[in-house]
Amino acid sequence: MSQNRRDFLRQSSLIAGTAVAASLTPHGATAAPTPLRRSRKPRLTLRFRPYTIELRHVFTIATSSRTTTPVVLTEVEYDGVIGYGEASMPPYLGESHASVTDFLSRVDLSKYENPFELDTILRDLDGITTGNTAAKAAVDIALHDLVGRLMKQPWYNIWGFNPAKTPYTSFTIGIDTADVVRQKTKEAAEFKVLKVKLGRDTDKMMIETIRSVTNTPITADVNQGWKDRAVALDMLHWLKERNVVMVEQPLPKEQVDDLAWLTERSPLPIIGDEGVQRLSDIPKAKGVYHGINIKLMKCTGMREAHKMIQLARALGMKVMLGCMTETSCAISAASHLSPMVDWADLDGALLISNDVYDGTQVIDGKVTLRDRPGIGVTKLKG
Ligand code: MG
Repeated sequence: MSQNRRDFLRQSSLIAGTAVAASLTPHGATAAPTPLRRSRKPRLTLRFRPYTIELRHVFTIATSSRTTTPVVLTEVEYDGVIGYGEASMPPYLGESHASVTDFLSRVDLSKYENPFELDTILRDLDGITTGNTAAKAAVDIALHDLVGRLMKQPWYNIWGFNPAKTPYTSFTIGIDTADVVRQKTKEAAEFKVLKVKLGRDTDKMMIETIRSVTNTPITADVNQGWKDRAVALDMLHWLKERNVVMVEQPLPKEQVDDLAWLTERSPLPIIGDEGVQRLSDIPKAKGVYHGINIKLMKCTGMREAHKMIQLARALGMKVMLGCMTETSCAISAASHLSPMVDWADLDGALLISNDVYDGTQVIDGKVTLRDRPGIGVTKLKG
């Protein structure tokens, strides 16, 4: 190459570099000429913001009532592609806006060059603290969404699940007066399974009120509300006669021996929820419960939830997939696992009035996955 040719190329690049620098300078200020840089390697960037979801009705379970749930919405960006995630923090989980944002402030994803290294990134994330499972799920979900978008595939395809095999989701009816329960049952006519919250002194009224409207199968969630195993066993027989098909967490999780006694004699499957949080809890849950209720906010997200399903199946246990009150972001993330479970309770986004995403839908009571990459959500606002 001649000297003139080299000079020409050098000058051209300087001019181009100046133009780029000037175009990025705000308010037309003159920028110092800078040479064109080689394109940088893309980096993972995490963003997050607190949000409060509003519930359509006051939601009452055995231990509490509430009308809102705090969540934190996350985004992980890589090379111009954004994945979405969410942490939902019902009070009994022990997390809050403050605890989740504190945790997320400590997460540095920029040190990872390859977003596909989910095992490494999420293992490191889990090692930051021993708790903060919802905060960890918010990163896990956004990363999974990002990776699916980069691969241009929905997660049910990446995992190899048939999207037509999704289950019906139950629709939850909280503890309330007979009039309200009757009304909610009528409004839930599209659902093929109802989930009823029990654990107070109104249990029989709740079931009888629903049965005055419909014979739709019921799953019951006691939320640790019964205390005596013999009384609980009588109640299980009473419920079975009324087409209740499964019961969640009938006794406090600490009463392990009573739970094992009850599970051995129960006419209905007994599912552990409060008593089973993470993968490492499953081996000791065998014999205590017939099955487990997996929730992304308890188990740190999609990656561990997938492993929990495999382990529970290997141990011959039943699997339920549950949720918190949360937006369609976390619900959509969980729904990609739903073709593999016995029962789904993924109505969390149906219970709220200010959703932020469009994603997995419930059509005629059935979990209906979208043919979109990642977890399959689009942002509605903000
Ligand atoms: Mg439960």
